Amino acid sequence: METLGGIEAGGTKFVCAVSDAQDPRNIIAQAQFPTTLPDETIGLCVEFFQRHSDGLCAIGIASFGPVDVHKDSPTHGYITTTPKANWGYTNLRGPLADALGVPVGFDTDVNGAALGEQRWGAAQGLSDFVYYTIGTGIGGGAMVGGKLLHGLMHTEMGHMRLAHDKTQDSFAGSCPYHANCFEGLAAGPTIEQRWGARAETLPAHHPAWELEAHYIALAMQTTICMLSPQRIILGGGVMSQPQLFPLVRQKTLEYLNGYVQMPQILAHIDEYIVPPALGGRAGVLGAIALGQAEL
Ligand code: ADP
Ligand code: ZN
Repeated sequence: METLGGIEAGGTKFVCAVSDAQDPRNIIAQAQFPTTLPDETIGLCVEFFQRHSDGLCAIGIASFGPVDVHKDSPTHGYITTTPKANWGYTNLRGPLADALGVPVGFDTDVNGAALGEQRWGAAQGLSDFVYYTIGTGIGGGAMVGGKLLHGLMHTEMGHMRLAHDKTQDSFAGSCPYHANCFEGLAAGPTIEQRWGARAETLPAHHPAWELEAHYIALAMQTTICMLSPQRIILGGGVMSQPQLFPLVRQKTLEYLNGYVQMPQILAHIDEYIVPPALGGRAGVLGAIALGQAEL
């Protein structure tokens, strides 16, 4: 059987999977390894794919970053200036390409998830859309004109500056670089620091969610005005609070204040800001989609 592989490379764990190349949603084998030291974790990934090398046509890597996604760069496939200890300037793609001898696609975790959602999920048929994860950090991946957006490096939408009214929210923000950027005001660990309890333990009516929706909606307004996406997908652990979606949609309309007169937004906001259709598999299927794109 012809197969495709994918690695969802995260700051806490690496998820490796092999799937049927005819229908990549059909995962045949999967394993996960904690993100310890580069040699150890990447070594375990190499061994996994060596065990499943029969019929393997290509693999894709969707990685935490910052990363170097430019194919003509000498550090293509590296995790670059990451603040994560021991992982700065790690060649992630190289050891897998050398050991497996198959094409290896490489992109950010959120660009991978965006591509997976376009192939098999909530962005099918779209050429312009954005995928955000709101979890331990916040990141955004974008497809523009049918291509994943890279630009100079790659987008860092999680670090966009948001208006921060300190009389309403006295928490200074937790981003070590910017304090009150989107991630610094709205990522999962920030919710915990601001309210003194893990986000998943806060009840649905807790004021944390109204404030969270406010920040996400500010970011939605900026995203819509910057990239004019046909849809925005919001994933990540924090978005598993279902009450957030109606709040975010309503506040996004409020903050746009009628300026963008498109029925897809004004009349169909429920289909405009949506959860990922691939759910918890968005990351690993996104990595597989990056591999498929190399064929
Ligand atoms: P990661 O970003 O590390 O890949 P997640 O997307 O699961 O992983 O994000 C983890 C963050 O999301 C944590 O800060 C956690 O508190 C928060 N989180 C996880 N599950 C929930 C939930 N059901 N409700 C609210 N927050 C959650
Ligand atoms: Zn920041």
